[in-house]
Amino acid sequence: MREELLNNPVFHMAAEQFDRTADFLGLSNDVRERCKWPKRLLTVSIPIKLDSGETHVLFGYRVQHQLSRGPVKGGLRFHPNTDLGEVAALAMWMNWKCALMGLPFGGGKGGVACDPRTMSVKELENLTRRYTSEMLPFIGPETDVMAPDMGTNAQVMAWMLDVYSAHAGHLVPGVVTGKPVNLQGSEGREAATGHGVAFLATRALSKCQLDPDKATAIVQGFGNVGYYAALTLSRFGIKIIGISDVTGALYHPEGIDLAALKRHLDSTGDIKSYPDADTIDPDAMLVQECDILVPAAVDRVITEHNAADLKCKILAEAANGPTTPEADAIIEKRDDIFLIPDILCNAGGVTVSYFEWVQNIQRFQWSEQEVLSKLDTMMAKAFDRVLAFARYKKIPHRLAALSLGIQEVAEVKQQRGLFP
Ligand code: NAD
Repeated sequence: MREELLNNPVFHMAAEQFDRTADFLGLSNDVRERCKWPKRLLTVSIPIKLDSGETHVLFGYRVQHQLSRGPVKGGLRFHPNTDLGEVAALAMWMNWKCALMGLPFGGGKGGVACDPRTMSVKELENLTRRYTSEMLPFIGPETDVMAPDMGTNAQVMAWMLDVYSAHAGHLVPGVVTGKPVNLQGSEGREAATGHGVAFLATRALSKCQLDPDKATAIVQGFGNVGYYAALTLSRFGIKIIGISDVTGALYHPEGIDLAALKRHLDSTGDIKSYPDADTIDPDAMLVQECDILVPAAVDRVITEHNAADLKCKILAEAANGPTTPEADAIIEKRDDIFLIPDILCNAGGVTVSYFEWVQNIQRFQWSEQEVLSKLDTMMAKAFDRVLAFARYKKIPHRLAALSLGIQEVAEVKQQRGLFP
């Protein structure tokens, strides 16, 4: 299993980051091994009825990295490239993220290898219901709580909640987060990840003594995270000059009208044909001059091939794993880029998921203002801790963030001891 996981490029990258941090922390070999490898890896086949009447078998995954600090928490992804190794890497990052944020969760992740863009609503519902029923013995509010990620949304969470609750015989809202608000979802959850990204980017602007009203940003990805990150950045006064999605990239030095672009996307399904901005090569967009670059789509887009060419001042990692270790080595040598590492930058999503879970347990609903103000407080605290630790130890921000998360998990492992 070790070999199989390490052969996956995304897991390999997460493991490399872990090893570097474990070396820095001087973790003993036994704690290192217990922290590094996932506790449970589950693969299921999912037969679903297509609209054509045919039956098609898809493969789905769930990885629970660790349960030492509480139930496993992490998104469910529908994407063609998803596989067990990628899901295991994402579960590992979730583990350090939850610990860094002080949330009482372990890290988990799920995925199904499929292309939701080519599937009908009925097929997506069939897939979600069957995946959830295969997962029934392993999930629940006290064991494993899923949430939306790439290719999934509040509707997918509502179907999952329905399957789980139907089996339990009563409504179990705490089994998933990121649900519709009238199904006991949390106010503010949909915008939370993007909001957190934008909030930290503005704090980074202030550290770099840059004025938001004169700042520009480029955002890769215009889905849940990219859209809300761009929208919140623009509300802080920052001009969005570049946006891309899987269909192509747009560039406009005077700024892109986000509301008009969203309307265009909703009516046509792509951003590339939007008439009020120039199209640009998606790779070239990443290296245009801007103050804030926000990768908010897929992993491994900042690599050794483009890291030296980046012309941003702040790299706000909204996606999970957007920067490879080779690119990190280049960025670390540059003192002109302020990195907000993924496990900190995109932690707004899991933090509001935690709030949603707490509200579900309490059978209580907080207002959006209450949610976002609690979120800002927790994001600011984590940001300040990471920066202070990085400064104190004279280490890069990613190593500082990972160290704080991994150290927390390692301590809990030692306190609980080893059974038997
Ligand atoms: P999403 O499915 O809502 O949106 C993904 C976006 O990325 C879409 O606009 C898609 O067109 C675009 N995209 C896909 N491939 C692309 C490519 N090669 N180049 C440019 N754009 C591309 O997904 P999301 O929920 O916004 O997640 C985006 C990233 O943020 C993922 O890495 C995810 O793991 C991470 N994340 C999401 C959350 C959350 O709350 N949804 C929380 C933390 C981290």
